[in-house]
Amino acid sequence: MRALSAAELLDVWERGAPLSWARRAGLLMEASQDISTVASALSIGARDAWLLRLRKQTFGSDVEGVAVCPACRDSVEMRFAVDDIQVDAPSSESPHTFTLSQSGWNVAFRLPTAADLADLPNEPDAARRCLLDRCMTSGQGSLPDAVLDAVVAKMAEADPQADVHVALQCPSCGHHWRAAFDIVSFFWTEIHAWACRMLRDVHTLASAYGWKETDVLAMSPVRRRWYLGMVNS
Ligand SMILES: [Zn+2]
Repeated sequence: MRALSAAELLDVWERGAPLSWARRAGLLMEASQDISTVASALSIGARDAWLLRLRKQTFGSDVEGVAVCPACRDSVEMRFAVDDIQVDAPSSESPHTFTLSQSGWNVAFRLPTAADLADLPNEPDAARRCLLDRCMTSGQGSLPDAVLDAVVAKMAEADPQADVHVALQCPSCGHHWRAAFDIVSFFWTEIHAWACRMLRDVHTLASAYGWKETDVLAMSPVRRRWYLGMVNS
């Protein structure tokens, strides 16, 4: 993986704006790969591990966000480092098949890949059923919910990076809980805020100095900040 330049990141942001989260993740990976990897064939955990590394290279290691306390609905600050939530993702080289026997049912399945997340129905239950159908290699049909739950649990256990939770405590009411953390939506939201700032900075510097967009984007962040400071002083 390689870091993205400001121009490349802006290009990904523009192309990804009308797309789904899954496809935005695909664009980020495509743009940052130095050797040709089939990003869509990676497990969700391997994809998310990649995006966490890219996020660290792009905006640094510190993650700061806001969660909502499920008990009192207060906003709770969340703060951790990327390394705190990195786990060993299964290798994309060895796509495992898993088997499960429960209540007389025998099923075989593989882990969901990044490609499986594309074009899922919007409704969560329908999306879950569709995703499970795609991953079953034998034992399809109307499996009971308990068996499907067991399949989902085994998938999560085999691909822990796909299901990251952060332990939080609410300072207002003391409630403890584990909040799900999704790197795709978190990183994309940061990229969106960054892109809006960057376009404003390009506008300011291009207006003041007559520079082209490519000139401003090619500048180091330090130099850009200095020029902005002089324009604004
Ligand atoms: Zn609370």
